[in-house]
Amino acid sequence: MNILVINAGSSSLKYQLYSMLDESVLSKGRVERIGMETAILTHETAGKPEIREVNEILDHTTAIRKVLEMLLHKEHGSIRAVSEINAVGHRVVHGGEVFSSSVIVTDEVKREIKKLFDLAPLHNPAHMMGIDAIEINLAAILQVVVFDTAFHQSMPAKSYLYPIPMSLYHKHKVRRYGFHGTSHEYVSRRAAAFIEKPLDELKLITCHIGNGASCAAIVNGQTLDTSMGLTPLEGLMMGTRSGDLDPAIVPYTMGKEDLTLNEVNSMLNKHSGLIAISGISSDMREVEKAMGEGDKNAKLAFEMYEYRLRKYIGAYVAAMNGLDVLIFTAGVGENSVLLRQTVCRQLTFFGVELDEELNQVRSSQERRISTSQSKVQVLVIPTNEELMIARETYRLVK
Ligand code: AMP
Repeated sequence: MNILVINAGSSSLKYQLYSMLDESVLSKGRVERIGMETAILTHETAGKPEIREVNEILDHTTAIRKVLEMLLHKEHGSIRAVSEINAVGHRVVHGGEVFSSSVIVTDEVKREIKKLFDLAPLHNPAHMMGIDAIEINLAAILQVVVFDTAFHQSMPAKSYLYPIPMSLYHKHKVRRYGFHGTSHEYVSRRAAAFIEKPLDELKLITCHIGNGASCAAIVNGQTLDTSMGLTPLEGLMMGTRSGDLDPAIVPYTMGKEDLTLNEVNSMLNKHSGLIAISGISSDMREVEKAMGEGDKNAKLAFEMYEYRLRKYIGAYVAAMNGLDVLIFTAGVGENSVLLRQTVCRQLTFFGVELDEELNQVRSSQERRISTSQSKVQVLVIPTNEELMIARETYRLVK
């Protein structure tokens, strides 16, 4: 069975075609600048060179049509007929309280996703365009939606409620949802397999630190708590997002700087985090490089980023009353030797003992970076949200 995984954004769309026989990626690619005359489609089929085309692609329906043409391409494609695509799996950021697991797309499911547009205005409408575009191009094909929030629906009320009037929860569903759930679930399962222990006997902290960043406390394979909240703005300091701050900063800066709600929202989401403090970049590679060259603001940005992450780890150890495995994943977590080193060197109180040499190894493999005596095992597990979406789709349609 072949499964096409789609991650549709408002002006971009990423795809991977999986063969579920061996979970291999047959083809993958992305369309960028949808809506423009100079949209870019980059496509790669296993064993063949990558190709790049610039075309007018004004909407998602055209983008999907172009993707299908590529998949069927005589030279660069991997299938001979669209009937070789058996199902499509979509990433959907917000599943609200309605969806605690992946589901097959029906009219009712689409109605529910639309009701959640207010909670994820930048994401859910774009995902819906992807779903509709597949429907238009592939008619009756089975589609599955996999939600970033679903895994975290196991959180107890004490974790997901905010201490504000309950009417806001009852009327408007204001609560913590948490995001990156597909990644937290994937790496927690992989970690249990890696150390050969049942997941339901473990206390884990998963640190998904990429451009967006969140961590989760996972007990018995279920989220006890996670750092992102109603939206992906809460929690850790990120590339361009502030993460946690005193909510009073919002009205205060609005008054002092004469900002509108939209402006303050944009400031916290797009102009805060690493970029705001370093003044250099939202990319940790650039920040680390500048820090190495003696830039003081870059150093401060790194210190704040690391310190805030380590405070969350400490809080989650207390929340779970213990810790068996600490997991690093996503762009920064998988690649930054320095960040992992700085965090782990200051967690010795909890029984974390970093193996400095293992931490230096650069690899795309799952690996342990703690010593064999370390009470807490520290692992680097490359995330694979697309594979998780393909597996979920396969599970539901097979
Ligand atoms: P992601 O969102 O998971 O794709 O992560 C992307 C981010 O990972 C980039 O913006 C970088 O900040 C970070 N990153 C990637 N490679 C490295 C590296 N070698 N060292 C530090 N950070 C990295």
